[in-house]
Amino acid sequence: MRFTPEKPSLYGMNPEELADFIEPGGFPAFRAKQITDWLYRKRVAGWEEMSNLPKDLNEWLRERSCLSPNSVLMVRKASDITEKLLLQGEDQSLVETVLIRYPQRGVGTDSSRKTICVSSQVGCAYGCKFCASGLAGWKRDLTAAEIISQFIHVARMEEERDRDRPENRVPLDNIVFMGMGEPLANYDNVIRAIRTLNAEWGLHFGARRITLSTSGLVPQIRKLAEEPIQFRLALSLHGATNEVRQQIMPINKRYPLEELIPAVAAFSEKHGRMLTLEFILIEDVNDSFEQARKLAEIAGSLHAHVNIIPYNTVEGLPWKRPNIKRQTAFANILRQARISHTVRKEKGHDIEAACGQLRLQVERERA
Ligand code: SAH
Ligand code: SF4
Repeated sequence: MRFTPEKPSLYGMNPEELADFIEPGGFPAFRAKQITDWLYRKRVAGWEEMSNLPKDLNEWLRERSCLSPNSVLMVRKASDITEKLLLQGEDQSLVETVLIRYPQRGVGTDSSRKTICVSSQVGCAYGCKFCASGLAGWKRDLTAAEIISQFIHVARMEEERDRDRPENRVPLDNIVFMGMGEPLANYDNVIRAIRTLNAEWGLHFGARRITLSTSGLVPQIRKLAEEPIQFRLALSLHGATNEVRQQIMPINKRYPLEELIPAVAAFSEKHGRMLTLEFILIEDVNDSFEQARKLAEIAGSLHAHVNIIPYNTVEGLPWKRPNIKRQTAFANILRQARISHTVRKEKGHDIEAACGQLRLQVERERA
């Protein structure tokens, strides 16, 4: 489905486009800079807050555009360290954004590191067998504005809670594109959103703190290697051989490992950044020692970091995570091969991966 909002959101426009947008109203280009300041530095929630804009420009903008393309329908504390926001678009579409507070050792929760997990599509077309987002299929792509506003809603929520912070400090540490959807299937909007997040005129968020996760769309990964912004890439591997991977990820039939691995290698070579391989551990599916050895080989050849994620059960799906002993034995094989790796332990992290479940639940209730 192609979605065209009734009025464009200002969040989707860069300063040049904003200047072009207001030009027919007879407003000078320098106003664009004032507008981006209100949008991204001050992150205003309403037109009336844009106090240095002339009244006629303010009214002109109100008539022809909108500020936020979506609204917060629900905020739910999902665990001690994670919180989920359910956002509703103009067409009633629902997306999830998750805020994760990773507690720092030895310091209070106030100084915990905050990661925001954003969605790139409503649903997902790639149908990985273990994933809640893929369960109900793909509905539509999110616009760049709908991606940017996820960040802004969370930043504003945090700022309101913590008014003592200096005005312009974005109180978030990392952005990961690991919510609903396949970001590289919505390439242009995702790249546009990343540019705004990163730009000095925009949210001025360091590219190295932005991670894009993909299930492995080879042509887009090759294209991504040519992008000038230095963000990080995570590959959802989840199977270290074609045989295992294609059982759970249909995309592997289209882009098998012998095409995928060289594509991500080309990305990390071009960007000079360490790649992350995500590997969800699912009992009796991909948790064999054979898989661990093959995974170590792949990670070694790519100089990649491996993130082992014990599987989170999804309602209606049969899979489960292996027990701790098995997880440790799997990780030990990576350790022996001297592969840099982490195993997600904290319970709260569950919710990050289980992105898509709250939406599914609310969609079902609506139906
Ligand atoms: N489509 C992209 C990004 C969104 S998914 C991708 O697949 O990479 C973000 C991560 O969460 C992926 O690694 C995905 O495989 C993982 N994930 C999905 N469902 C999960 C579950 N139930 N338990 C643990 N991780 C899950
Ligand atoms: Fe889509 Fe990623 Fe879920 Fe696969 S894991 S269905 S690509 S969101």
